[in-house]
Amino acid sequence: MNLSDLPKLGNKRIKALSESGIDTILDLMNFLPRRYLDKTTVLPIRQVSGNGEQVTVVGRIKKIQQSGYGRKKRLEIIIQDDTASLKGVWFKGGYYIKKQFSEGEVVAFFGKAKQYGRYLSMAHPEVDKLDDKSDISDLKKIVPIYPSNNAFSKHRITNKLIHSWQKQILQKEKPPEFLPPYILSEYDLPKRHLAYRMMHFPQSKSEYKKAFIRFKFEELFLFELSVAKTKHEVIEQHQGPVFNNLGNYTKQFFNKNLPFELTEGQKSALSDIKKDVRSGKQMNRLVQGDVGSGKTIVAIGAILMALDNDFQAAFMAPTEILAEQHFRTLSSFLDPLDINIRLLVGNQKPTLRTDILTDIEGGNCDIAVGTHAIIQEEVNFYRLGLAVIDEQHRFGVKQRAEILTKGSHPHVLVMSATPIPRSLAMTLYSDLDISVIKGLPGGRKPVKTAVRPQKKQADIYRFVEEELAAGGQAYVVYPLVEESEKMDLKDATAGFEKLKKRFSDFEVGLLHGQMKSEEKDAIMQKFIENKIQLLVSTTVIEVGVDVPNASIMIVEHAERFGLSQLHQLRGRIGRGKRQSYCILIHGQKVSKEGQFRLRKMAQTNDGFEIAEADLKLRGPGDFLGTKQSGMPEFRVADIVEDQWILEQTKSAAWEIMDKDPHFEEPPHQELKKVFLPYFKERSKFYGMG
Ligand code: ADP
Ligand code: MG
Repeated sequence: MNLSDLPKLGNKRIKALSESGIDTILDLMNFLPRRYLDKTTVLPIRQVSGNGEQVTVVGRIKKIQQSGYGRKKRLEIIIQDDTASLKGVWFKGGYYIKKQFSEGEVVAFFGKAKQYGRYLSMAHPEVDKLDDKSDISDLKKIVPIYPSNNAFSKHRITNKLIHSWQKQILQKEKPPEFLPPYILSEYDLPKRHLAYRMMHFPQSKSEYKKAFIRFKFEELFLFELSVAKTKHEVIEQHQGPVFNNLGNYTKQFFNKNLPFELTEGQKSALSDIKKDVRSGKQMNRLVQGDVGSGKTIVAIGAILMALDNDFQAAFMAPTEILAEQHFRTLSSFLDPLDINIRLLVGNQKPTLRTDILTDIEGGNCDIAVGTHAIIQEEVNFYRLGLAVIDEQHRFGVKQRAEILTKGSHPHVLVMSATPIPRSLAMTLYSDLDISVIKGLPGGRKPVKTAVRPQKKQADIYRFVEEELAAGGQAYVVYPLVEESEKMDLKDATAGFEKLKKRFSDFEVGLLHGQMKSEEKDAIMQKFIENKIQLLVSTTVIEVGVDVPNASIMIVEHAERFGLSQLHQLRGRIGRGKRQSYCILIHGQKVSKEGQFRLRKMAQTNDGFEIAEADLKLRGPGDFLGTKQSGMPEFRVADIVEDQWILEQTKSAAWEIMDKDPHFEEPPHQELKKVFLPYFKERSKFYGMG
C-alpha cells in the first residue's frame, strides 16, 4: 500500500505530509498522537473548578476578539459547550493564533483554568482543532489528537482525516512482528499490529499506554541490541591482555607508599577494574567521579596492574598543561618505586623527543604521559597494556574505538569529572562499563557557597583581599554574553582593568578564549606558580587544572550560567588544605529558573544531584550541549522518563547475545531482518563499521 492509495490524499497533501517526515504508509502509522481526549480527561466547562488545575475542555468557538490597548492588548477566544463557556487568553502571539481559528469551529483547550470575575479563563492554552461535526456532548470514544501545523491546516489535513486514514491502513496492513515471542511474553508487550490498533483506536487509556510502551521498547531494544552486538564483536575479536599478576608494584604502593586510606568509592572502582583486566576481555570502562573524588589514584592502581604484568601504560590528558600536571603527580606518587615515566608533549627539543620515543618503543619507558597525540600518532609502544584517558568528554566515541582496535588492543580506562545522570550515561556511554565514585575523600573541607547580589561587591572584594593577603589565590569568572566572543571579551577585559586597580597590591592576570594557546598556558602556568594571585577569566579556565592553593571562585552574573557549568567552575577550588569559598554574584533581575539554580548550588556540593537537577531543567539535548555529542535520538522513547524500559531492553538484548549472537535460530529471523540494517547505520555513524 502506498500513501496515494488512501482516499482524499492528493499531491498537495502528500507534499504537506512529506514536510512532516511522512513519506510512507509506515511513517503514517508511526505518526504519534500527542494527546488523547476522552470522557475521563475532558471536563464539562461547568465542572472546571477554576483554582488553577490543569484540565482539558472542548467547545465551539463563540467569539474571537482583540481587547485592551497598548501593552495590555490581548487576544481572547471564547468557547462554549453544553454547560458553560470559557475564555482562552493570549497576551503574546495573538496575531498568529487568530489567523488559525474561526468562529464556529470546535476546539479543545488544554491548560490551567482560573476564575477571573465572571469568566473562567485559561492563559495561553494549548489548542487542538477538532473536526467540525464531532459531537461535543457525546465524546464517548477516545480520540487521538495528532500534531498539526500550518501546512496541515492549509490543506485541511484534519485530525479526523488522519484518523480515517489510520483506519483504512489498519484494515489492510498487518506489520510483521519482529520481537521474538518469548520477549513479548516476558515483558508483557502487545504484538506489533495490535499495538498500532491500540495506539490509533484505543478502547481504554491502558490500551494506548501499553501501545506506547511497546513502541518505546522496540526502539530502545534495537539500540541496546546494537550496543550488545558491538561489545560482543569486540570480545570475540580481541582478547584483552590479561593482568593476572598482582605483583610487587601494586603491593608496595598500596601497602607502603599510599599516604592515605582509599575511600569506599575508590576501592569499588579498583575492584571493578581488577575484574576487567583479569577476564581475558578488553576493558572499556568509564570511571565517573566528582572533581576531587580521587580518580588519579584509581588510574595509578590500574597502571600498576599493567606494570606488574610487564605491560606499558599510556596516560592521556586533553591539554598539555594537564598532561604536565599529571606527569608531576604520577612522578611524585610513584617516586619510591623504580618506574620510568616519560612526558611526551609537542614543544620538546627534537633530541629529547627522539630519546623519549626510543624509550617507549624499546620498552624502557613504563608509563608515557601526554596528550592523546601519544596514541594517535607515530608513537609505537613496545607492549602497551592500558590506555588511561582523563577528562573523557573531549574524546569522542570514535577516538575511543580507535584505541580499542589499536595494535595490542590495550585495556581502556576513561575518567570523567562531569557527572552524568545514569539515564543519560547508559545511552551516551553505551559502549562503556561504568563505575561511579561517590563522595569525596574524608578530611577535605567542602567548599562553602554563597549567593550574593551585585550591590555587595565592595564587601566581597574586601573578603577576597583578606584571603589573598593570607596567602590564597582567587578566580573571577565572567560569562559568555550571548555566545559572542567579542562581548565576552569586553566583560572580562573591563573586569580585569577594574580589578587590577582594586587589587593593586597583587598580581592580576587575564585569560580568555581569543588568546593563543601558548599565551593561555603561560598565564595558567604563572597562576599555578602563584606568580598571579587573582585570575580573571572567561569560562575557558581549563577543566581539571589543579591549583590547590586557589581558594576563591567568584562568578559574575552567575544567573546566566547553567548548573553543570557552575559546578564545574566550583570544582576548580577546594582542592587544598585551605577552606574554599565560591561566591555567586547575581544581577538585579533573575528569572525563577535562575533563582532555582543559584539556590541549588548553595544547597549541595554533590555533582550527581546537580546534574540530575540540570537535566530536569534543560532536557537531554541542552544538557549535553550539542547534537554531535554522540547521543542517539529516539523517536518515541524519552531516555530520562523511560529509563526503566531502557534497563529492560538491555537485559533482553544480552539474553539474545548470549543465546544466539548471529541470529541463526528461527525466533530471531524477523528480528535479524530489521536489526542488521539498523546496526549497519549505527556502526557507520560511530566509525566502527
Ligand atoms: P580528581 O578525581 O578530581 O581527579 P584527584 O585524583 O586529583 O581528584 O584527587 C584530588 C586530591 O585528593 C589529590 O590531592 C589526591 O591526592 C587526594 N586524594 C585522593 N584520594 C584520597 C583519599 N582516599 N584520601 C585522601 N586524599 C585523597
Ligand atoms: Mg583529575
